[in-house]
Amino acid sequence: MKKEFEILNPQNIYKEIEEIKGLALKKTLIGESVKDVMRILKNSLDGERPTPKDVLTLLEIKDPELLQELYRTANQIKNTIYGNRIVIFAPLYLSNFCQNECLYCAFRKGNLKLKRNSLDQNDIISETKALLEQGHKRLLLVMGESNENSSQLGLDYMIESISTIYSVECPTSSAAITDTKHKNRIRRINVNMAPLSVEGFKKLQQSKIGTFQIFQETYHQPTYKLVHPKGPKSDYDFRLHTIDRAFQAGIPDVGIGVLFGLHDYRYEILALLQHITHLENTYGVGPHTISVPRIEPAFGSELSYNIPSAVDDETFCKIMAVLRIAVPYTGIILSTRENKETRTKALQLGISQISAGSRTNPGGYSDFKNDDKRDAEQFSLGDHRTLLEVIKDLTSLGYIPSFCTGCYRKGRVGKDFMDLAEPGAIKNHCQANAILTFSEYLQDFADPQLVERGEKLIEQTIHKEWQSNSYISNLRNTLTSIKNGERDIYL
Ligand code: SAM
Ligand code: SF4
Repeated sequence: MKKEFEILNPQNIYKEIEEIKGLALKKTLIGESVKDVMRILKNSLDGERPTPKDVLTLLEIKDPELLQELYRTANQIKNTIYGNRIVIFAPLYLSNFCQNECLYCAFRKGNLKLKRNSLDQNDIISETKALLEQGHKRLLLVMGESNENSSQLGLDYMIESISTIYSVECPTSSAAITDTKHKNRIRRINVNMAPLSVEGFKKLQQSKIGTFQIFQETYHQPTYKLVHPKGPKSDYDFRLHTIDRAFQAGIPDVGIGVLFGLHDYRYEILALLQHITHLENTYGVGPHTISVPRIEPAFGSELSYNIPSAVDDETFCKIMAVLRIAVPYTGIILSTRENKETRTKALQLGISQISAGSRTNPGGYSDFKNDDKRDAEQFSLGDHRTLLEVIKDLTSLGYIPSFCTGCYRKGRVGKDFMDLAEPGAIKNHCQANAILTFSEYLQDFADPQLVERGEKLIEQTIHKEWQSNSYISNLRNTLTSIKNGERDIYL
């Protein structure tokens, strides 16, 4: 197996960080850094990806006006590539049993106070129904680590659970729908679980997953060893090579991320970008998504209350904006770990996917009346809004909530997706499919006030985005079909 240095070059990262710190000390003339920043931002808008030094320069911005320029640029790039749509999903926690000892996580094996629970297939059906009844179409399956070869809570359990979820159908409230073909189903399942072997990934791929997602947590090897003292996850190299194995097994869409708070964010960002460069150079394709979790308080985790390299809100906003500028084609995901205020601000910084109405304890959706689940959840949530509340807020801010699963089902995945996203050609599909899935949501789950507001937003978006009369009339015909009860139409 390749060693860390074949993917990352820590010495280069240290050198870049030292250089930028030196420059920051010398640069007393604000005009000089303004010029640098404006050059980098202009080049980014012209399609040039920033160098590691540029990235560090952007992360150093402190001047409020320059910060606004950074945010405007990130927002503009996101809008050029994906439009005003925000993709929505929900995590579904299958099991909180785990054989690892990650010091930041409530699921760690040594946390004897955690109430352990794993869902059986009947529980999974109940959870799926509860999510479908809210209007969800895209799920992220999450679980603690068990032996991939064990039938108990390992890969086979994940595969069986995926098949169960895809088979669940549940009627919507819409009176127009009578045909079973149009019943409400989960249309895309992404997976966040322990790293697999190439053989394991091949097996998983057969169950028609969307994205396989895994976070390195920290790219800084000494810190990694400290915070993962026991269990299979303590093998840094095995985790770092997970995405390589996934690509080698034929999984086209992968998601990566850093758990911010474990080590210096500058190091993490440069290492993440080196990881992406390695993937692009080796496989011709980068990550479909990047996640930006920050450590949240976790029951029974001392570290989560004394975060070693905590990232404050302003720095966190810079991180999101800089990632959008540095990897323009990727989906950037923000979960309900963050509170409503941060999530609302993040919408203007290049975030393109959010979770909504989440629970992080297995069984948390069907057992929603039991709100006191602290002793079974992975970490505390920052945003407690329901899916409907999130959709209302997005709509009133002018964003189209999207439940789109079109690309994955049309085969626009991996390199094909990236080739369309990079020049901004994916936007047409994204916007149209966002409108169609939002329109379904309005028919099936919204109250009259949201229907009125949502339909107005759809009209405004159509006017703004398309000039071609034939395209617009096609889209309108499809919207009419949805009103008449057709479902799951995607372009
Ligand atoms: N067990 C698998 C693993 O560790 O890769 C997959 C599921 S794990 C529950 C998903 C992610 O949750 C981890 O990769 C980690 O980044 C994140 N996580 C764990 N503890 C957290 C905390 N206290 N706050 C925020 N995110 C946390
Ligand atoms: Fe287990 Fe994942 Fe939590 Fe680590 S982060 S303890 S591997 S569930």
